[in-house]
Amino acid sequence: MQDSPLETYEFETGMYRPPSEGGSASLLVRLTRNCPWNHCTFCAMYKSEKFELRKPEDIIQDINVMNDIYLQIKKISIKLGQEGQITNQAVGEFIKKAPGLYFHPGISMLLTWLASGGKTVFLQDADSLIMKTDHMIQVLNHLKTTFPTIERITSYGRSRTIARKPAADLEKIRKAGLDRLHIGLETGDAALLKKIKKGATPEDHVKGGKKAMEAGFQVSEYWMPGLGGKTFSKDHAANTARILNLINPHYIRSRPFTPRPGTILHEKASRNELDRLTPKEQLLEIKQTLKDLDVTSKVCFDHAGNFWSAPNGQLLLTHDYEGYQFPKEKENLMALIQKGIDHYSSPFIS
Ligand code: SF4
Repeated sequence: MQDSPLETYEFETGMYRPPSEGGSASLLVRLTRNCPWNHCTFCAMYKSEKFELRKPEDIIQDINVMNDIYLQIKKISIKLGQEGQITNQAVGEFIKKAPGLYFHPGISMLLTWLASGGKTVFLQDADSLIMKTDHMIQVLNHLKTTFPTIERITSYGRSRTIARKPAADLEKIRKAGLDRLHIGLETGDAALLKKIKKGATPEDHVKGGKKAMEAGFQVSEYWMPGLGGKTFSKDHAANTARILNLINPHYIRSRPFTPRPGTILHEKASRNELDRLTPKEQLLEIKQTLKDLDVTSKVCFDHAGNFWSAPNGQLLLTHDYEGYQFPKEKENLMALIQKGIDHYSSPFIS
């Protein structure tokens, strides 16, 4: 363990993680920088940034630095008579010795993770499985050995990358400790996928999703209601349900379309060139998608973009990370959506 100078501590933290990983206070470990595809017309996440693979030894160094920080705080805590607990006082004393860390973009994430028991990890950035399999396994092994408290490790993955990865490699990665993959499906409609430059066909989505399921990952597929505006609404709903039925992932997560500044679709929206759905039309499209879903997934609305309100002014749908279990809660969810449609049909609601 390093004693001084603590000011030299450095580790890299990326910008993004799924909301559910924030909810579980995940440790963020950056495996790659940005997105290797970076063409989706709705996505602002890594737009001006170049994709880079990181060397496994650099990632391992990050993990070691984070562990050193943990051990330093623990030592201080023991000295304070606090039995090695991550207390505010121990953290405060530590930061006094390492003021450079005060402005580090990842320090509060790391401290929150430690204080919450060090259980879940999210591997950043947009497509970790693009790493060489051996490198990824090396990192996973080091992570789990360094922090034995870890119970779950998750990451983003592109359908096409997963579809191209040998099944045996996926299984090895799964066995090495990566538990869950968050995959951006967006839509199952071939024409809409092309239009938004997703770089994946419906067949890629099915192949990638199914391979991930067969390798034993927990799979979260993200779908984007309203993505195709009025023109694509019907096909978007029908084909998204069709493709999701073929994958039958553990989680289906709704991320309604909003034009984000810095994207092509935002430019189009500002020129009034998008035929965007009204809140009522969004709910009608969601209703159509859900009606056709024949899955055993949990359908989740765990994001602020699922904003619709009920007549009592409360949120129409729960933002809980575990959502609605299908098929058991399908009817209940459909009834809620209908309630929302009725509400937004009122001439006093826009
Ligand atoms: S693959 Fe994902 S991160 Fe990359 S541009 Fe598309 S939506 Fe954004």
